[in-house]
Amino acid sequence: MAEVLVLGAGMVGIGTALALQARGHAVTLVDRREPGRETSYGNAGLIQREAVEPYAIPRELPTLWRYLTGQSNDVTYHLRDVFRFAPALWSYFRASATPRHRAIARTYAQLIARSTDDHAPLIAAADAEGLIRRAGFYQVYREARAFDGATREAERLRQTYGVASRLLDGAALMVEEPALRKSLAGAVHWTDSWSTNDPAALVEAYVRLFQARGGRLVTGDAAGLERQGNVWRVPGDGGAFEAAAAVVALGPWSPDLLARFGYRVPMVWKRGYHRHFEHPTPLNRPLMDVANGVVLSSMQQGLRMTTGAEIVARGGSINPRQLERGRAAAREILELGEPVEAQPWFGHRPCMPDMLPVVGAAPLHPGLWFNFGHGHQGLTLGPTTGELLAELFDGEDSALAQALSPARRLPAAA
Ligand SMILES: Cc1cc2nc3c(=O)[nH]c(=O)nc-3n(C[C@H](O)[C@H](O)[C@H](O)COP(=O)(O)OP(=O)(O)OC[C@H]3O[C@@H](n4cnc5c(N)ncnc54)[C@H](O)[C@@H]3O)c2cc1C
Repeated sequence: MAEVLVLGAGMVGIGTALALQARGHAVTLVDRREPGRETSYGNAGLIQREAVEPYAIPRELPTLWRYLTGQSNDVTYHLRDVFRFAPALWSYFRASATPRHRAIARTYAQLIARSTDDHAPLIAAADAEGLIRRAGFYQVYREARAFDGATREAERLRQTYGVASRLLDGAALMVEEPALRKSLAGAVHWTDSWSTNDPAALVEAYVRLFQARGGRLVTGDAAGLERQGNVWRVPGDGGAFEAAAAVVALGPWSPDLLARFGYRVPMVWKRGYHRHFEHPTPLNRPLMDVANGVVLSSMQQGLRMTTGAEIVARGGSINPRQLERGRAAAREILELGEPVEAQPWFGHRPCMPDMLPVVGAAPLHPGLWFNFGHGHQGLTLGPTTGELLAELFDGEDSALAQALSPARRLPAAA
């Protein structure tokens, strides 16, 4: 059995650490902060059993025009950063063409199909049932035409992948969600998806489980990773931590570290914001307001509104536009009180142009492993790709793992 450093204690890092540990490896989980305080902290909390097709760039001209002219609230951008990401965005655009996207979705759907099953034993063992709702979530539509389209799409996903859903008209939705004060055109209820009312607390619960099973959590800086002989070493509190293997699970920061080792990772960061609001009547289920590009979910801290994507570099300043538009739209349908925090939170979805996470051995460095690039569904997929990585680590290859392999996906490694 090997000693392994897992770098990054978000949902992907802890999923990896638990899976390696379950196979008998001695795992040290390294983060520069408390576990689960970055991207895995601020998401919408959905464990998305319905998300069998990863989020593609729309290719229809009217939709692209709405994006370009700032009419859409789901995607906004900073022109300078669009140029900076141009090669990766171009690859992403090409991968979004229907035939390729369908092929990618065949892989993605296999990951998503396992997601709730892979979370389930961890939730039970971590005593985290109180953080989980197994009630699905609603995608709500304000206009009949959009709802009709969504109805057809839900049927396509049912026939193609077996994704379960039910349809509600506006009146039925108001009965199920007394917090709504206005009838909408309708909703698709994705019944097999789960959600958490505190994503960071879920990561923390998994970390406590990892520690109770003998795992070690340490504070260290992955940016100082180096190899000396056959040993990987990171500097940390009280000295260096060493092991024969290291897994990079640094989410949006993974490309920064890997550039130092000669890997060019074409990641696009899609920033998302959240803010909590006081609300008198909690929602029974999270609600995605499709027309306004926001998810509303009752969390422990208040009603969390999360936004869609802003294409902007990590250091770019806060732009509250998507949250403000989402807030105005939410006020039309719900009673929304004052913000809970003085400032919105933001984080960056780590998105690969081919929409798949990168999982497997580093092509050029023995003992170095990758598990990052989970884009819109890292909370959902952390335990699943953690298990896949652990299988590969123990020499168990599979067609699914091959499709996520860094050797095939990062050809520019120098
Ligand atoms: C607004 C928003 C909504 C979202 N909604 C959902 C959702 O509903 N469902 C879903 O499945 N996904 C959702 N996502 C995506 C999901 O949050 C991410 O895919 C996921 O959190 C990525 O997890 P990670 O572990 O890879 O990264 P992170 O959670 O960011 O973890 C990386 C860790 O690396 C650490 N780190 C970085 N640099 C260093 C260093 N030098 N040394 C040591 N440690 C370091 C960080 O401190 C951090 O803890 C959403 C994302 C956003 C932004």
